[in-house]
Amino acid sequence: MQKRSNPAIIPRILIVEDEPAVAADLVERLTRMGFSVLGPVDNADEAVRIARRELPEIILMDVRLKGAKDGIEAAAEIRLDPNHPVIYLTAHSDKATLARAMKTTPCGYVLKPIREEGLLVAIETALHLCAQEKNLRDSESRYSATLASIVDGVIATDESGRVTFMNPVAEELTGWKFSEAQGREVEQILQLVDDVERTPLKNPVRAALQQRAPVLLSDAKLLMGRDGRGIPVEDNAAPITTHAGVVIGAVLAFRDLRSRRVTEDALHKSEEQLHQSQKLDAIGRLAGGVAHDFNNLLTIINGCADLALDDTSLNEATRDFLRDIAEAGQRAGALTSQLLAFSRKQVMAPAVLNLNTVLKEMEGMVRRIVKEDVLLTLSLSPSLGCVKADQSQIEQVIMNLVVNAREAMYDGGRLTLRTFNTELERWDQTPAAQVTPGRYVVLTVADTGPGMAADVRDRVFEPFFTTKKSKGTGLGLATVHGIVTQSGGKIYIDSAPGQGTTFSIYLPFLAKVVALQEPQSEGRPRIGNETILLVEDNDGVLLVLSTMLRRAGYRVLQARCGTEAVEICERPEPPIHLLLTDVVMPGMGGLELGKSVRALLPDIPILYLSGYIDDTLLRDGITENNSSFLQKPVTPDVLALKVRQMLDIYQQEQRESHRESYDRSDGQSRRGAGNSV
Ligand code: ADP
Ligand code: MG
Repeated sequence: MQKRSNPAIIPRILIVEDEPAVAADLVERLTRMGFSVLGPVDNADEAVRIARRELPEIILMDVRLKGAKDGIEAAAEIRLDPNHPVIYLTAHSDKATLARAMKTTPCGYVLKPIREEGLLVAIETALHLCAQEKNLRDSESRYSATLASIVDGVIATDESGRVTFMNPVAEELTGWKFSEAQGREVEQILQLVDDVERTPLKNPVRAALQQRAPVLLSDAKLLMGRDGRGIPVEDNAAPITTHAGVVIGAVLAFRDLRSRRVTEDALHKSEEQLHQSQKLDAIGRLAGGVAHDFNNLLTIINGCADLALDDTSLNEATRDFLRDIAEAGQRAGALTSQLLAFSRKQVMAPAVLNLNTVLKEMEGMVRRIVKEDVLLTLSLSPSLGCVKADQSQIEQVIMNLVVNAREAMYDGGRLTLRTFNTELERWDQTPAAQVTPGRYVVLTVADTGPGMAADVRDRVFEPFFTTKKSKGTGLGLATVHGIVTQSGGKIYIDSAPGQGTTFSIYLPFLAKVVALQEPQSEGRPRIGNETILLVEDNDGVLLVLSTMLRRAGYRVLQARCGTEAVEICERPEPPIHLLLTDVVMPGMGGLELGKSVRALLPDIPILYLSGYIDDTLLRDGITENNSSFLQKPVTPDVLALKVRQMLDIYQQEQRESHRESYDRSDGQSRRGAGNSV
């Protein structure tokens, strides 16, 4: 007796047979062979129903069935789902029936009358085939899941280059659905052109099929999508070959380069930006350096002119010349101060400011910037309130806005700078919708240039945003925004194409005008007889400064460098009451000197004098007690006033601490007169 080969699993077999005797015989034999039997069923419809419900491993299907449908029709319906292997039972078949049966891709035929060996072989073969088919299907679904999840587009073709597969990425990039593309020439689905010339390129699938070898990665090409847009891609094609080396198709993988290009572009841009800001830094350093040297020269020019004017024996004509020199020198001083504002080397300190004063001081400079073809109007409210801000920062703000307006009005136009007070009562008033209600001082800078489109206007405060290609830094308005915000204010743009541009800066109105930081010791003597140690490496400046100090009555000890100054301090006599030192000097700089001198004379007032100040000085130096800073060039009056103030404050402190210690020691001062300063 025949037995099935693998007894571990019991396959279920559905019997579809309308002759009861044959059916009964089959049931009996199959059960004996060790199969589990479903049915028998004698008509097509029931066969379909049971097959779908029970999912038997095998269906034995009689070709001729009673009723409207025969076995082939039943099998065709069942085989819509490929999991149902059908074996036909047939006595004698004509060619036409056989052809119909073939279309349902049966797993075998068993001829009637049924012989046991034939039946078993057919069933075993069918089971084996099914298992293989299932493996194939599983691996196919694994592959298609993989292909669906990768970021590359994949297209496979047959050996003639017609599309047999596309993954979803390929569908998206080409714009073709696989269902539409299937069977079409690959060139129609995947059109590649040269990135630059836009000339059609040979399809890599075709090349791989012809060369029977992989066509390797290449980029600089565009995939022309169905919608006509060009997507930069790189691709890679390879032929599909059988074990025997027969080419049966090709597969092409391609990658969308857009995101990579965006990253590359961003990298490129940030390099450029870095370059720009380095350039700006370098210009700043250069400007600072020039200003420093220039300020030394101006100290001499202005100082000498001022000192010479003190000589009453000079005739009036000479004195006029000297006055002209002094005036020109002062204007030059204002210029270097602008230079310093740009290089951000000025002391950043908020002070009580009147914007009108700032604007009037800058008017000349603004005029030089806008030139003749721009009509400049200053409309300043005479009752303008004060604000608290840093003057050099505000100057920077105005400069940047003016320069932008100038650049926008390349054909000339009108530039209007306006100041006024305003009171905002409700949030929704005025363009300054988000300003907290209250009193404000407003500065507007309006031009009649081309204005800005909304997308530009929305981005102008972004650092590095510029529409001026390589000529712009994109830092101007970013700096402006930073300064205004830092000063507790708001800035708004009113601009549209063809409408010109107005920037409005709202700064909080300063209700109580506190005393200016520089105490005006008007009427107090600006002279003294104390001893001042003056340190300056520039001979001309040294001479001018010492003359100024001597004329004010002081005793001056001079040093040309830090080391020399320290030596003087180490001498027992005479006592030194104040150190006046340049900041930037070769060798020991002013700050280092300050520290060394403080180690010897702990409380001595130190006045730093420099062509510019940098942040280190701010941080480490003049924030200390009893130290202060003056910017070159200085006039004799300013210098004398500052020195006197520092000495007065110091001496007052000394007297107070002296009195305290006198009180504590019951009237007996422990402090000798000599070391009181
Ligand atoms: P930059 O001047 O270096 O481009 P800014 O930050 O100063 O950088 O300005 C950014 C951009 O804002 C400019 O490139 C320009 O497009 C626009 N912009 C600024 N001011 C004006 C203005 N007055 N009129 C028209 N556009 C302006
Ligand atoms: Mg600018």
